[in-house]
Amino acid sequence: MKIAVLSGGVGGARFVKGVVEVAGSPEVTVVGNVGDDLEVLGMHVSPDLDSILYALAGLNDERRGWGRAGETWSALESAAALGGESWFRLGDRDLGLHLVRTQALRAGVPLSEVTSRFVRSLGLEAEILPATDDRLRTWIATGAGEFAFQEWFVARGHRDEVDSLRFEGAEAAVAAPGVVEAIDGADLLVLAPSNPYVSIAPILAVQPVREAIERRRVPCVAVSPLIGGRAVKGPADRMLARLAGGTSPAHVAGCYAGLIDALVVDEADAGALDGLGVRAIVTQTLMTGTDARRRLAEAALGVVPA
Ligand code: GDP
Ligand code: CA
Repeated sequence: MKIAVLSGGVGGARFVKGVVEVAGSPEVTVVGNVGDDLEVLGMHVSPDLDSILYALAGLNDERRGWGRAGETWSALESAAALGGESWFRLGDRDLGLHLVRTQALRAGVPLSEVTSRFVRSLGLEAEILPATDDRLRTWIATGAGEFAFQEWFVARGHRDEVDSLRFEGAEAAVAAPGVVEAIDGADLLVLAPSNPYVSIAPILAVQPVREAIERRRVPCVAVSPLIGGRAVKGPADRMLARLAGGTSPAHVAGCYAGLIDALVVDEADAGALDGLGVRAIVTQTLMTGTDARRRLAEAALGVVPA
């Protein structure tokens, strides 16, 4: 069974790992968000793609929730002591990846090709693709002004309420090689439990990606990132309340109107399924460990009989 998963960073990566464990790596293509990408200290950083790479390779730091396990911070401390920027935390091990990627990008290698090289170097068999090789950046409009995504999210701790979002470069962006083919060739499409506004929307803003999902002839299932109407982590619940008018499963599904056929929701939200409009799959959705992660993936994959 071929599966294409659209995913943001940490929340999505955890789920993708479950999908790979259940379906087998060769069956899975992950389409990742690049709206969060940024330049730090002259290096190109793709936080969401890297979260997926590290999670699938087992290199991620479970406790911190982002970045690599066994990380040290000497390079960043040295940069800070010299007056360099240090607001975006990059560890020493992580930096190695950013150096290699930045060099390749400067030599003209597309981001998708660089990412595929990393997949192979790490011994992974799932395919990980950026939604686009073109420059696409998420901008957040707030009462305090408009901010580049990471400035709002990391530097300002996503404290400003969001009035609207803009995906710079999305209109002209073409899908990275393999993305539309993976969606067209899949037996099941899955939207990971990532933030609908800042992780999944920038992927869907690439028109050929959205159109490929719209014309699907196979089911598309989303997994809600909310439990009991609350985000497990991050601003998804605040954003839904403000931008969609609520945090029920119907509000989550509303972010994906015309794109999904089913929504996996937590048992804590089972009493709030009114007006959902798509099939509900109710289960426990908190990925506390290996078993919980696998069960959630099985629930999502169960949309298609094996
Ligand atoms: P980011 O790009 O690193 O911010 O990560 P994502 O956008 O992929 O994921 C963030 C979302 O994951 C948040 O809205 C969380 O509520 C959600 N999330 C994190 N862990 C879990 C979990 O165990 N279960 C569910 N259902 N959602 C989760
Ligand atoms: Ca992200």
